[in-house]
Amino acid sequence: MSYRIGFGIDFHQLVEGRPLWLGGVKIPFSKGALGHSDADVLLHAICDGLLGALGLGDIGVHFPDTDALYENIDSKVLLQKTYSIIKQNQYAVVNIDTSVCLEAPKITPYVEAMRSIIASILEIGREDVSVKATTTEKMGFVGRGEGLVAYASVLLEKIIDKG
Ligand SMILES: [Zn+2]
Repeated sequence: MSYRIGFGIDFHQLVEGRPLWLGGVKIPFSKGALGHSDADVLLHAICDGLLGALGLGDIGVHFPDTDALYENIDSKVLLQKTYSIIKQNQYAVVNIDTSVCLEAPKITPYVEAMRSIIASILEIGREDVSVKATTTEKMGFVGRGEGLVAYASVLLEKIIDKG
């Protein structure tokens, strides 16, 4: 068996006039994440973890934010494209553990939907995708509601060619 561990982290500003996409789910809130794509901080952290596990750089290398192709793109598409790269390298996802750090809104009601979306894209079970949420106890930029952060750890397993 050949396993690879990966870690991803992503930050975005929270601003008025943007929708808030998190884990592939649109969450009703007065602010949204600022970015070139739909700025889904959780899916971006997972993409970085997947790429990092195979030493393939990060999301910015594969999907540059200077490329008009990726303007306002649904980050579920970026996750799908990233997963294709993982499969091309003969790896499968074992499990993913994530944390989102934000002051508001409460994301607990949306966590199961996020797990389902992420699991279906990565062809794993919902039980193999963990999404946790925490605040910073009102400290720092997260605590002031200026931005949010997501962290993702991933484990990949080499696909054994039985032929
Ligand atoms: Zn991002």
